[in-house]
Amino acid sequence: CGIVGYIGHREAYPIIIKGLKRLEYRGYDSAGLILYDGNDLKLSKTKGKVSDLEEISKEITTNGTIGMGHTRWATHGVPNDVNSHPHLSNSGNLAIIHNGIIENYEPLKKELIKRGYIFHSDTDTEVLVNLIEEVQKKEKLKLGKAVQVALNQVVGAYAICVFDKQNPDEIVVARLGSPLAIGVGENEYFIASDASPFIEYTSNAIYLEDEEMAIVRMHKPLKIRKIKDDSLVDPYIQELQM
Ligand code: GLU
Repeated sequence: CGIVGYIGHREAYPIIIKGLKRLEYRGYDSAGLILYDGNDLKLSKTKGKVSDLEEISKEITTNGTIGMGHTRWATHGVPNDVNSHPHLSNSGNLAIIHNGIIENYEPLKKELIKRGYIFHSDTDTEVLVNLIEEVQKKEKLKLGKAVQVALNQVVGAYAICVFDKQNPDEIVVARLGSPLAIGVGENEYFIASDASPFIEYTSNAIYLEDEEMAIVRMHKPLKIRKIKDDSLVDPYIQELQM
């Protein structure tokens, strides 16, 4: 399973497809991606290989300089197109990719269903993205805060990337138990399970520690926080050997 994200000035699509191929060694059963073209989210996902994803996506979804891609190793819900990531929230504004397991997804899902949420997949991940949306609505929070509040209600493991098309200049990322690296370029950021998807673009990488989250924002320095106590963490940038 793997994660690739990009926010910057380059076309995101080839970076994501190439990056997902580099992460294939981690194992997976499905692949998907989402791109933001300045107006709309364009989603493609499928059971199968990254080459299958490439086949279905190349004609419909190649524009956009912000995007996220995912390879899934199913834990909740069989490998099929619907259960593949990314998952959208009920409003259609939020998109998430997730590696890991939300162990307490069942009670969270029941509560969300009571509040009127509808679920299309059998995944734990779709519960998390709707929980973030519910927190965002109820407490009128920006995405970063909403993700933080939601993650503090979650038991499990994750590397996640979340995008909100209402606030499209940032991707919120977080990690607990699954790896997540951030490549820091000039006016661009890369996100990935390991540095292999972005090593050709930048040799500066930040590896998130467990229980850390970051708001990856265009034209802004990276802010890293502890998910539990909200304290700021000084980003430690490592120089990668090319
Ligand atoms: N638990 C999630 C699912 O089954 C993510 C699996 C993964 O790590 O790829 O969809």
